Amino acid sequence: MRVVLVGPPGAGKGTQAQFIASNLSIPKISTGDIFRANVSGGTELGRLAKEYMDRGDLVPDEVTVAMVRDRLGEADAQEGFLLDGFPRNVPQAQILNKMLAEFGTALDIVLELVVDDEEVVRRLAGRRTCRSCGKVWHVAFDPSSKEGVCDACGGELFQRDDDREDTIRHRLEVYQEQTSPLVAFYADEGILQGVDATGPVEEITERAMAELRRFVD
Ligand code: ADP
Ligand code: AMP
Repeated sequence: MRVVLVGPPGAGKGTQAQFIASNLSIPKISTGDIFRANVSGGTELGRLAKEYMDRGDLVPDEVTVAMVRDRLGEADAQEGFLLDGFPRNVPQAQILNKMLAEFGTALDIVLELVVDDEEVVRRLAGRRTCRSCGKVWHVAFDPSSKEGVCDACGGELFQRDDDREDTIRHRLEVYQEQTSPLVAFYADEGILQGVDATGPVEEITERAMAELRRFVD
């Protein structure tokens, strides 16, 4: 199954993606995670992406698209994937459609995680991420038992540079201007499904899975 998750920063895409991808046995492909791995690895791609990420702007399409093309070409993505954070604007969505057509496939469904701006700010302001395994926590909504330490792997938890209040506000503007038009784009294609992304994490996963099960034999 080929699935895209859209929704504002902080909607819970990464949180839901790990459960959904594991339920469906497909790889979760997060462009944000790939960029962050390149930043910490000190690669040329990371150096280039970092200035855009720190401002809360989108990394240029040609860089992002080339990276996704490579990732989708890998063996584990041939039977399906869950994209988190890509596409982020209509040109990226058009290129993705073309890319998949070249592979002889297409997206099955796009899930839009629906949550309001106030909740997004609360979620992002308290987000903590594990430096070792990438698991996402929240200081109030989903705290690890020992502050600053990941319960899953014992790694160090850190606050993302782009989760500062001024950058959060800018990322929400970027979402409204550049990413939210994807909702109409995929609705026109007849593959958009909205999911209420408020409430407990497990309930949201269940709502998402209820939509996705229609595609599983
Ligand atoms: P995104 O990938 O869409 O930017 P994340 O999955 O990183 O969002 O979630 C943002 C923050 O919100 C994280 O700190 C996460 O623990 C928290 N979070 C995710 N889902 C929920 C939820 N249903 N209720 C409360 N907090 C949540
Ligand atoms: P995320 O982890 O999805 O919140 O992404 C963090 C940052 O990575 C974004 O603010 C962008 O700077 C960059 N990024 C992630 N995905 C994309 C994309 N599809 N296109 C452009 N930039 C992206």
